[in-house]
Amino acid sequence: MALLQKSLQKVCMFKQRGIASLAALSETHQMLQKSCRDFVDGELKPIAAKVDREHLYPKEQIKKMGELGLMAIAVPEEFGGTGLDYLAYAIALEEVSRGCASAGVIMSVNNSLYLGPILQWGTKEQKEKWIQPFTTGEKVGCFALSEPGNGSDAGAASTTAKSEGDSFLLNGTKSWITNAFESEAGVVFATTDKSLKHKGISAIIIPKPVEGLELGKKEDKLGIRGSSTCALMFDNCKIPKENLLGELGFGFKIAMICLDAGRIGIASQALGIAQASLEIAADYAAKRLSFGKPLLKHQTIQNKLAEMALRLESARLLTWRAAWLKDNHKPYTKEAAMAKLAASEAATFLSHQCIQILGGMGYVSDMPAERHYRDARITEIYEGTSEIQRLVIAANIIKELGA
Ligand SMILES: Cc1cc2nc3c(=O)[nH]c(=O)nc-3n(C[C@H](O)[C@H](O)[C@H](O)COP(=O)(O)OP(=O)(O)OC[C@H]3O[C@@H](n4cnc5c(N)ncnc54)[C@H](O)[C@@H]3O)c2cc1C
Repeated sequence: MALLQKSLQKVCMFKQRGIASLAALSETHQMLQKSCRDFVDGELKPIAAKVDREHLYPKEQIKKMGELGLMAIAVPEEFGGTGLDYLAYAIALEEVSRGCASAGVIMSVNNSLYLGPILQWGTKEQKEKWIQPFTTGEKVGCFALSEPGNGSDAGAASTTAKSEGDSFLLNGTKSWITNAFESEAGVVFATTDKSLKHKGISAIIIPKPVEGLELGKKEDKLGIRGSSTCALMFDNCKIPKENLLGELGFGFKIAMICLDAGRIGIASQALGIAQASLEIAADYAAKRLSFGKPLLKHQTIQNKLAEMALRLESARLLTWRAAWLKDNHKPYTKEAAMAKLAASEAATFLSHQCIQILGGMGYVSDMPAERHYRDARITEIYEGTSEIQRLVIAANIIKELGA
């Protein structure tokens, strides 16, 4: 049993720390939140600035997260996972991202986008081989859908997987791949039949490193700098056919279903960034004097804090609702898109307002506010941009209304 579960059993009670929405959580989820919060305050927050400044992959901390059970939260125990639900995943990912959004995205990709599809569509043999070693934090996986020529329009994938005996020969380039440098396996989407367009795309598990696969340059990013991002370039890369995930031509569907789940993760990452921004702003406003009184006593600042809290709590409720729907096997595509849209825009808003409340101190790297501002921005782009979330929401509303 993962350490996280053991620690959950030990913690019987704890003092709620001023988050009103906590009251809605079960005791197990509250204990999980408390355990994660303690870990993040003790181990992640202190290294987050260095991780960002030096573009460092937080290897030791990811291993510890694995030991705590955070790298495979919703994976059943029989495959080495923690066996908790998606709400637990959302809660834990928010806490991790509150301390270090880079660790948050590394965790998110491994949980939702790498382990998620193998758990759902993998054969018994694939699960045994490709899940367990990736639950401990020692190894991480990646998910390769985007290409230089198509990000939002993922169905236009041009990377090919040509049948050759017992193998596929992969050719083409996948771009912007999170965990690309450290990952030791990935779920890659390639077209096995171009004439069928998106219905010709298949999902294939690849080992890394592997002959015929080269990595592009490490992207120099605005934020989440502790996670690596780069292109995967396939040149006659031979992968055994036993690595096909699900049926031939089912890859696009797999990608879309995984992204629904992944969006709950990115929404949670955004919530963590937003929560951190609110805490920093409130703390600073209580201490900083202006015109003879703390900033907190000025009504304009109070209005800002109120608006920040409102957007944060609204987004959190949407995120937890989407997770609850998934846990209860109900449709959640629209709700996950709403959660991701609301939480990512909240993160951008809160981190912006946090800098404003801190004034000059918000603009320099002595305080984490500017890092949160930079980290927030990506949550509106990956796993579907805000524009794409609006399209997904609208498409679902139109369907529901029969319009
Ligand atoms: C740091 C980082 C990490 C990433 N990690 C991964 C990963 O691990 N795996 C992976 O597969 N991908 C990853 N991505 C890729 C990411 O998912 C894409 O960047 C994203 O989906 C947007 O695609 P694009 O960059 O090609 O933008 P485009 O699709 O070219 O879009 C450009 C702009 O046009 C808008 N737009 C596009 N189509 C429409 C439309 N129909 N209607 C209205 N507006 C539209 C977009 O919203 C956007 O504002 C990552 C990206 C980054 C930056």
